[in-house]
Amino acid sequence: MSTIFKDRNWKFFKSLRFRILVILVVIGIVPSVIIENGILNSYEERTVTLRSNTVKTQCDILCNQLINQDYVNNPTSEVINGEFTLLSNVYSGRILIIYEDYKVINDTYDLDKGKTIISEEVVRSFRGESTSNYDKENNYIEMTIPIEDAETQKIYGVMLISISTNEIVASLAILEQKGLYLLTIIVLLVLIFGYILAGILVKPFARVTRSIEDLTDGYLDENISVRDYTETELITDAFNKMLTRVKSLDDSRQEFVSNVSHELKTPLTSMKVLADSLVGQENVPIELYQEFMQDITEEIDRENKIITDLLSLVKLDKKAADMHIEKLNVTDLLDLILKRLRPIAAKQNIDLILESFKPVIAEVDEVKLTLALSNLVENGIKYNKENGWVRISINTDSKYFYVTIADSGRGIPKDSLDRIFERFYRVDKSHSKEIGGSGLGLSITKNAIVMHHGVVKVHSEEGEGTTFSVRIPLHYSV
Ligand code: ADP
Repeated sequence: MSTIFKDRNWKFFKSLRFRILVILVVIGIVPSVIIENGILNSYEERTVTLRSNTVKTQCDILCNQLINQDYVNNPTSEVINGEFTLLSNVYSGRILIIYEDYKVINDTYDLDKGKTIISEEVVRSFRGESTSNYDKENNYIEMTIPIEDAETQKIYGVMLISISTNEIVASLAILEQKGLYLLTIIVLLVLIFGYILAGILVKPFARVTRSIEDLTDGYLDENISVRDYTETELITDAFNKMLTRVKSLDDSRQEFVSNVSHELKTPLTSMKVLADSLVGQENVPIELYQEFMQDITEEIDRENKIITDLLSLVKLDKKAADMHIEKLNVTDLLDLILKRLRPIAAKQNIDLILESFKPVIAEVDEVKLTLALSNLVENGIKYNKENGWVRISINTDSKYFYVTIADSGRGIPKDSLDRIFERFYRVDKSHSKEIGGSGLGLSITKNAIVMHHGVVKVHSEEGEGTTFSVRIPLHYSV
């Protein structure tokens, strides 16, 4: 149970739907997070700058009042001290007034009065510069402003102000929380809509799978068609092509099986008729027995030949891995074939002539090539006339060797030329019985030659003769 669950999970993570979902989530969420961070940062920067500017303006005014009322010499001025208290209350801050000798002459917190403060910022302000620093960690802004007489440009002291930014941080936290809510909603929406959208996008692919399954289960008998995307169109087109090929293979297999059954049944039927007629008669003369038994023997021979040829054909239908390639003298091989067939040719007084100009050495499968060439020479003898000839020539160039088998036989009608390499095809079925063909010879020959990556062609003139030309590469390559 748990393995099935794991498998399903794994399948989902490998699915196109999951990948589209991931892309949508990345596209939808990453920019949202970046934008949220950017907004929060610039909000913080902006509010801190605004707060610093406001406080600075107020402090500048206060500094002018300090000069006008000679606060440095009269630090007990109630008006000014009242303003200090007001300012520090409004901004939750602290104001220190530092005199020329870096001594603190007023502190709204009353902590450092009389102490000396020599910080870098204070020193810089004594040189006429205003400074402002935002301490993000401790949540405060610290500013130093020179107390300067605008007319004489004399600097009497420095005002040091620290104001809390807790308020800003608090509003930032609220904003951040709202942003988080918004982001969670965006994530959920992207996940829901992404899941639905990814489902819609991959639907055509699911349809392709369903169509293929329907076809496999036998609900559909035609080609499949899912034209939603170019990709699904390409997949279904490729599938249809494969289907056509499978169908044609199935058709040819069925045709082959029915041909085989028919061919195997014919001699059996003849034998049965012959045997029945003998069984059904009383006092049959011995001569008739002998004649019928002779016929039965011929039928057995025929059956035997068909089965032998079928076995050869089945062997040749196997893969290239079954080729036993060796370097061989093909001229010697032809010589051997002719030696074996000469007695058969002699029965019809047919001349077998071998024309070879030089020994041809090639990489071939001896058994298969012998089968192919024997069939061609045998046919040359079988379909010849008395006192005829079969001329076999062998030649070579740098890439191929060529064998031609020409005969002075009956020839093949033009309309049959295209079909003679088909299994069980015979031009003249009525004569085939006496000649003893199975209709498989040329099919075996062609298969054997094709397995050598060669070609076989035929040229024939009815009544004059036939020539088969074979071309095979000298070097075998897989
Ligand atoms: P079969 O066993 O009948 O000879 P093949 O496949 O070898 O079968 O040949 C198919 C048919 O092609 C033969 O039945 C015959 O009619 C024709 N044929 C083949 N070779 C020749 C040839 N050299 N001359 C004339 N007809 C031929």
